Amino acid sequence: MQFGFTYHRPASVIELCELLNRYGAKCKILAGGTDLIVDIRAGLKKYDYIVDIKNIPELNELSFSKQKGLSIGAAVTCSQLIEDSTAQKKYHLLCECAETIASYPLRNRATIVGNIVNASPCADTAPGLLCLDAQVLIKSSSGEKTIALKDFFEGVKKVKLAPNEFVSKIIVPPASAEAKGAYMKLKRIKGHDLSLVSVAMAVIKKNIIRVAIASAAPTPVILPDFSKNTKVDEIINVALKTVKPIDDIRSSKDYRLHMIGVYIKRLYEQLIK
Ligand SMILES: Cc1cc2nc3c(=O)[nH]c(=O)nc-3n(C[C@H](O)[C@H](O)[C@H](O)COP(=O)(O)OP(=O)(O)OC[C@H]3O[C@@H](n4cnc5c(N)ncnc54)[C@H](O)[C@@H]3O)c2cc1C
Repeated sequence: MQFGFTYHRPASVIELCELLNRYGAKCKILAGGTDLIVDIRAGLKKYDYIVDIKNIPELNELSFSKQKGLSIGAAVTCSQLIEDSTAQKKYHLLCECAETIASYPLRNRATIVGNIVNASPCADTAPGLLCLDAQVLIKSSSGEKTIALKDFFEGVKKVKLAPNEFVSKIIVPPASAEAKGAYMKLKRIKGHDLSLVSVAMAVIKKNIIRVAIASAAPTPVILPDFSKNTKVDEIINVALKTVKPIDDIRSSKDYRLHMIGVYIKRLYEQLIK
């Protein structure tokens, strides 16, 4: 068969680790499949083994605690997050970002972790997660480690993950809970579309301004923290010096740069003024 692969559906993290150890780079994890299956069907990628993680109870957990913050398991879909009242109340910015992903049926399958591991420069949850200082919990048979999301992205569709490792969850720390924030995404059409450029802004603990930008560099970008007194023009200057947009089928570089300035100004007026 043209797309032939052997399908595995482990029921535990131990079983998942065994499969990743056994097959290494010949296998790939399947979460919602909205990126992976599209690539396989298009002939862009080929794997001998596909390992579906949706049957692992631990990876389906979405929880919040005052000590640990929001924990988003690897099989948690965008819709589950959006429909969770605690996530909406405490991490509204992230839910707002997830709501802009494609369409309702797609969000019912697509996971937050898949959006991050796929590492598209235009991943819609990335700007919100970066503003909220999200951490990535990586596991393998040798143990686990936590890495800041901003250090997880390596390039276009590249993340710091060895073939025997997987992302177990994303943790959004309690320090970012109840942050005031908003997300602006520019598209070619009013319906669902990937962004030409997008900007998230958050006010953390009432005195730090964080700005993250997608579709404007090989990876989503987080700017250094700004104090609440920073003038908007200074934030725009830093943003325009940091991003490296390109001309492509969706937009020109100049239009992207222009809209980054426009969105930062609008978000600043909405959240800070
Ligand atoms: C029609 C359409 C519209 C779309 N619109 C948008 C949009 O508006 N905005 C946007 O950001 N994206 C969009 N996407 C892309 C996609 O839906 C998202 O990136 C989605 O969140 C991916 O999640 P998934 O669970 O489907 O990932 P999958 O396809 O299952 O996996 C994606 C990649 O991550 C790896 N992976 C997944 N989970 C793990 C894990 N736990 N550990 C290690 N590796 C893992 C997989 O092996 C694969 O390489 C769209 C896709 C389609 C088909």
